[in-house]
This record gives sequence, structure tokens and C-alpha cells, in this order.
Amino acid sequence: MSNQKAPRKTCEKFLDDAFDHLQVDLEMQQLLRSPYREVRFELPLKRDNGSISMFYGYRVQHNQSRGPFKGGLRYHKNVDLEHFVALAEIMTWKTSLLDLPFGGGKGGINCDPTELSSHELETLTKRYVQRVSMLIGPDRDIPAPDMGTGPQEMAWIVDAFSIIKGFNPAVATGKPLELGGAQGRIEATGYGVAILTERAAKAHDIDIVGAKVAIQGVGNVAEYAARTLFSKGAKVVALSDSKCGIYQNKGLEIEEIFNSISEIKKDGGSLRDLKGGHKQLSNEELLELDVDILIPAAIGGVIHEDNVDNILAKLIIEAANMPITCSADSTLNERGAIILPDILANAGGVTVSYLEWVQNRQRYQWHKDKVIEQLEERMGNAWQEVQSRAGKDKLNYRQAAYAIAVERIIKAINLRGF
Ligand code: NAD
Repeated sequence: MSNQKAPRKTCEKFLDDAFDHLQVDLEMQQLLRSPYREVRFELPLKRDNGSISMFYGYRVQHNQSRGPFKGGLRYHKNVDLEHFVALAEIMTWKTSLLDLPFGGGKGGINCDPTELSSHELETLTKRYVQRVSMLIGPDRDIPAPDMGTGPQEMAWIVDAFSIIKGFNPAVATGKPLELGGAQGRIEATGYGVAILTERAAKAHDIDIVGAKVAIQGVGNVAEYAARTLFSKGAKVVALSDSKCGIYQNKGLEIEEIFNSISEIKKDGGSLRDLKGGHKQLSNEELLELDVDILIPAAIGGVIHEDNVDNILAKLIIEAANMPITCSADSTLNERGAIILPDILANAGGVTVSYLEWVQNRQRYQWHKDKVIEQLEERMGNAWQEVQSRAGKDKLNYRQAAYAIAVERIIKAINLRGF
């Protein structure tokens, strides 16, 4: 995470554009820029070997004008408050764009979860909940998995919260199915990326059947985006992990590859260890491939001013959060590249989180088909709104998405009053 400082700056530029376009007054700009609440607290942990390690917990709540704060819980050794401020802000725009009744939040702990035992992680997570119990809850702030956390951490949150406030599964989303998790949540973000990729491709005269696609990443989002696009007939020619990438001009056998990757990952291996005679390439080379569609689905800031001139893809789908820096974004737009912004492209996860929260409040579990149908409808509606706003106001998709999101929040703030 070398780009710890980059997200905030990137986001501010996109917000500035929206403020200019909507002619937002300075007081409202200030209100929308600054988070509602930023919290940092000590989290001492007694390790299994008897020593004490000191960690810090964070929760940033950006805006709640349209509903409770919503956003992930990230465990990563390099995170700090500024990082969470940027990510919480993005959640505000994302939930608004998808018209979900939530605001934006984000938080986490500056720990490396791979260096902690399961017992230590459970203790740390439950202590985090003790510290923020007065700030979170089904109608206050609802955490979800993010980097370094998953269904198990959400289950621990439910348990710790229930001791203080009584059992309520709607306190977190992304839970195991046994504790009220939603069918379809695991694949939701990647699946959403794929269905919007297909629609954007169609809108720009790219036939998804046979379209050449390069995907950076082999994690959760990349996997389900790749599997879905492959099933729709796209030629996924390249994939990568943090160490290297693989390439095959005729298209990779995605189903087989992901089945093998899960085995390789169990043994701590990487794509380098994959058999099958694929050509190997670096992450940089993957991004610069001459493909129809590029999907960065790993980390932020990978397309920047030093490599933007070599990016050849016509359509770029931001599956990761903030994969394109602000200056690279301007260059790509000048060149006529089509970019589907993160707050739209990767919103499938928070959309199904919303559906999970709804089910938890009803204490009822829907069939997976219903979840997927709702996901497709909601993402399809958001895409149509962005497309028509872009056409009407002569904006690119990112500008249109921010304009819709910011406008909705300003309306909610004004309706609620000060
Ligand atoms: P993940 O941890 O499952 O996968 C991350 C992937 O990134 C892995 O394949 C890893 O090998 C790769 N990677 C890590 N460091 C890298 C580096 N330096 N260079 C190249 N690749 C690297 O994470 P995920 O859940 O798939 O999330 C991927 C991105 O999507 C993140 O930016 C995340 O914030 C965003 N996102 C995820 C969700 C979700 O529901 N999972 C929702 C919205 C946004």
C-alpha cells in the first residue's frame, strides 16, 4: 500500500468537478468534504505467547443524511485515519448513487491479520466492537468485510454486539449464512462488475462474445468477474496476483484456472506455480495489453501518470477502489477512453449488503435468485441513470455518477434541515 496518501487527493478532484458542475455553495461543499465523525483508539492485545502488542482501531463516519453509515472493516498494517476518511467518503457517494438508504463509513485496525492467530483476531475484533459499540448498530453504522476481514470477523462482531445490546444480525453484513448472511454476497461485487461490463461494452459497440479482457487480480472480485464474463463468452486473456500475471492470447480456461488457484493459495503459492504453459507477464505488462476491456480488480493507484500513455484498452472498468489516479484519469478522458467509475462498477457488494440488512430486519432469508434479480435491477438502474445523465449534461461517466450521488445527498441534507 504505497499509495496511502493518494486516495484522498483523487477523491477530492472528482468531488471538485461535481461541485463545479452542480454549482454547490461553499458552505455545502465544506459540509460534504468533512466527515461527521473520525475516531482513533488504542487496542492493546495480549498475544498467545503472553506479550502485549499495541494496535489502533479506527472508524470514520462520513455522512448519514440518507441513512445509517455503511462501510467495510479493513485489517491492514499500513492503514491510518486519512486512509479511512477517503474510503468512508467514497462509500457515501456509492450508496447514494445506488440509491441505497445508507450513508458512508469505513474503519479497521492497523494489524496484519496473517500474523495473528485466530484466537488473537477474535479478541482484537471483539475489543474493537466494545470500543465502538455506542457508534455502531443496525440504525447507526453497519460494518462489512473489507481487505483482511471476512464472514468470520462479521460473526464475531454480531456476538460482541449482542452481549452489549442484544442479538441483532443487522449490525453487520457479509456474515456467514448461518448467522443471517445473504445468499449471493460472496460473488456479488465481481458479478456486478461483469454485468455492467457487458452493458457498457454493448453501449460502446464491443461484442462481449469474443471481447479480449485483461483482469488485474485473482481475489474475490476478480474471480467472480472473470467467471461471469467467461460464461458470457468473453476471452479473458490475462490475470495477475501481487507477484506475477499469466497470459494466453486465445483466452484462459477460467473455470479450470480458478479451481487450481484455490488449491495453490491453500499452500501459500502464487500464479507462478500454476501449470498449463501460460505465458507469464508482470502486473505492469498486464495493464498495458492491447485488449478491448481492462479490469483493474486488485489495488488502488495502478494506472498513474507514468504508465497512462501505455494503456491501450478502450474500455476500463474500475473494479478495485480508485485504481486510476486523478491525473491519469484526465489523460485517459482526453484520449477518449471509456471509464466505468468504481462507485458504480464495484457497487454490487454494498447492494447485496443492503439486501442482507433488509432480510435481517425481516428475520427472513431470500432465495439466491431473488437476491441476484434485485442486484441486477438495482445496478442496471444506476447504470441507466449514469448513462442518461452523461448524455444530457455532456459529462463522462465518472462526472455523471458523482453529480447524481452528490445531488441526492444535498437534497437529503436540505430536506432534513440543520
Ligand atoms: P482480495 O484480497 O480478495 O484480492 C486482492 C487481489 O489483489 C489479489 O488477487 C492479490 O493478489 C492482488 N494484489 C494485492 N497486491 C497487489 C499488487 N501490489 N499488485 C497487483 N495485485 C495485487 O480483495 P477483493 O475483495 O477482491 O478486492 C479487490 C479490490 O476491490 C479492492 O480494491 C477492494 O477495495 C475492491 N472492492 C471489493 C469489494 C468486495 O466486495 N470484495 C467491494 C468493493 C470494492
